[in-house]
Amino acid sequence: MASGHTTRRRQDKPRRNFGRPFGLAMALVLAFALVYTVVFSDNLYLVPGDNELIVAFLDVGQGDSILIWSRDNAILIDGGDFAQGDTVLRYIRQAGISRLDYVIATHPHSDHIGGLIPVLSRVEVGYVIMADVVHTTTTFENFIDTIANAHIPVVIPEVGERFRAGIIDFTVVGPLPGHGNLNDASIVLRLRHGDTSFLFTGDAEAASERAMMASGLELRADVLKVGHHGSRTSSTAAFLDAVGPVAAVIPVGGGNQFGHPHGEVLERFGERGILVYRTDLNGTVFMGSDGVGIVVIDGLGR
Ligand SMILES: [Zn+2]
Repeated sequence: MASGHTTRRRQDKPRRNFGRPFGLAMALVLAFALVYTVVFSDNLYLVPGDNELIVAFLDVGQGDSILIWSRDNAILIDGGDFAQGDTVLRYIRQAGISRLDYVIATHPHSDHIGGLIPVLSRVEVGYVIMADVVHTTTTFENFIDTIANAHIPVVIPEVGERFRAGIIDFTVVGPLPGHGNLNDASIVLRLRHGDTSFLFTGDAEAASERAMMASGLELRADVLKVGHHGSRTSSTAAFLDAVGPVAAVIPVGGGNQFGHPHGEVLERFGERGILVYRTDLNGTVFMGSDGVGIVVIDGLGR
C-alpha cells in the first residue's frame, strides 16, 4: 500500500456523485463519507479507506480488464489482450496491490485472457476462476500453461456460488448451462457492497441475458459493465430493464474494427437515462463504493 500520507482527495477536482435512491442528501453523504488517499506524482496511488472499494475499468483498448480492490484485498476480472498485460500490471502496482485473491477469466477470448498471462506469472494469485470451456488458440494454451507453472488452483464456479475476499463479495450469476458460443459462456458476476452493486457480464450476449433473467437470480445493479464492448448482440432492452443500472461502463477500443459500441445500444442507454462511460473516450474509469453509494472518481487522468 502507499505511504503514510492521508491526504484527502483534492476537492477542486470534479467528482460526480450518484447513488440509489437518488437525492441531494445521498450525494452529500457520499461527498463526506468517501475518503481516498491519493498521491499525485509520476505514479498514482489510490488507496481506499475502511470499508471502501475501488472498481477500476482499465483502458486496455479493445478488451476487458477490471481491477477491484479494498484496503486489504483485490481481484482482477480479465486482462485485455496480451500486449495490455504491462498496462494491467502497472495499475496493480500503482494501486499498491501485492496479491490478487481471485483472478477471473470470464471466457477464453484473447481480448480477455491475453493480458492475464503476464499477470499470472508475476503476481501472487490465490485462485483463478474460469468458465468450463476451452479454446483452440495459442493464447488459451499459454494461459493454461501459465496457471499450471505458477501452481495456481483453478475454480470452475457454479451459478449461484458466492466468493469473498474481505469486503469484496461477489456472486456468480452466469453462465447458465446450455450456452451456444464462447461469448455466452462468459462468467457473469454480481458484486455487492452494502447497498451498492455492480454487474460484470464479460461478453455475454442476448441468449445468456435471457437465461439469467429466467433464472430468477438477483441481477439488479447500480453499475453495469456492458457486455461485449457495446455490441448490438448484448444489452437487450429487457436485460437493461432487469438490471436497472444508474451507470454503464463500456470497455472498448477507439476505432475498433467491429464498430463497437453500436449506436442502437447507446440509444437503449440514452432512452433509460443511464449514464455511459467509455474507456475509449474517458480512459480508465475509477469508481468508489463505501457501501452506501458510488462515486465516479474523476481527474485521475488516463
Ligand atoms: Zn471481448
